[in-house]
Amino acid sequence: MTRAIVRHVVHRITEHPDTEVTYEADCLHCGWSATPSTDGPAVNLACMEHSGKSNHRGFRRTMTGFIFVVRDGKDDRPACPQAAPPAP
Ligand SMILES: [Zn+2]
Repeated sequence: MTRAIVRHVVHRITEHPDTEVTYEADCLHCGWSATPSTDGPAVNLACMEHSGKSNHRGFRRTMTGFIFVVRDGKDDRPACPQAAPPAP
């Protein structure tokens, strides 16, 4: 008979310390897109300007960020070297 020992370890999500969230927006009515930026209010303003010029009022806004799953109580960086974010 084989026995297994199962240990539960609490994990959590942490933001990647070397990256920022990138905001993007696309008009739902035409091919217009805001310039991707780490400045969320600037992307919102670009959408409002596009709306004022075109009367297009629907946008798909995305926010992209990088995270790690780490053991609770440990460092915020995982130990594996593949943890670097992809190059822009
Ligand atoms: Zn548009």
